[in-house]
Amino acid sequence: MIGPLLFILLSLGDLAIHSTEGCENMEIVSRAEWGARESLSNETMVTPVPHLFIHHTAMSECNNFASCSQMMRTIQNFHIDDRGWDDIGYNFLIGGDGRVYMGRGWDRVGAHTYGFNRIAVAFSLMGDFSHKLPSELMLNATKSLIECAKNENHVISNYKLHGHRDAGCTECPGSAFYNLIKTWPHFVGGPIPDRLKARTSRRVRREENPLLWEQPTAVEPVAVGISSSCFATGFRNHLRLFFCKASEARTEKP
Ligand SMILES: [Zn+2]
Repeated sequence: MIGPLLFILLSLGDLAIHSTEGCENMEIVSRAEWGARESLSNETMVTPVPHLFIHHTAMSECNNFASCSQMMRTIQNFHIDDRGWDDIGYNFLIGGDGRVYMGRGWDRVGAHTYGFNRIAVAFSLMGDFSHKLPSELMLNATKSLIECAKNENHVISNYKLHGHRDAGCTECPGSAFYNLIKTWPHFVGGPIPDRLKARTSRRVRREENPLLWEQPTAVEPVAVGISSSCFATGFRNHLRLFFCKASEARTEKP
């Protein structure tokens, strides 16, 4: 008796995953499915939002449902227990298995990009894409998720696409991947003027501060300070250094 019931439930679950309008090309793994802890906050944003940020996790890759679900739990534990945030920081993550894993979802305030957590959704690809590109499977899932965001009105139709580094002193989402998203529709880049940032609450500022710096990893926390990338040559990097110093000054008094 349990067998047929389970089959029906799984089938219904499958139907729910694939029937979302505008998002037919991807499979979203729910928080229950990857074994999420309960969020400590359910604060919502005003949607549709004008910005869409791309990140990488700068952690290990995963290649199937079990390992990607485990990675989701690891990242969530790191963000809650070590960073002191309310939940996993991003709105959605993309696994090496091509699945989309739900983080905070479409309409919840995130902890991903300093100054933009109330006016942006953030997608993070699991892995480190500094020196190589994500797989076609991951890239296709990311593009479907962006299309889904637009078609379902989670972002405005003329949304602005950025890499995390456009808004902070970080290498995220990795140079190799960043060079690719520069070619995608709606890419705007940065640095993004401070005046575009939304006013943030004390709680959100607390969540955002560590993300001014290099994307953290679970095994190798990055020291607080100006990232070495910001000392690199070139006009663009001079701008980034200026931005980093401004960010540093701003976070001295949280
Ligand atoms: Zn990032």
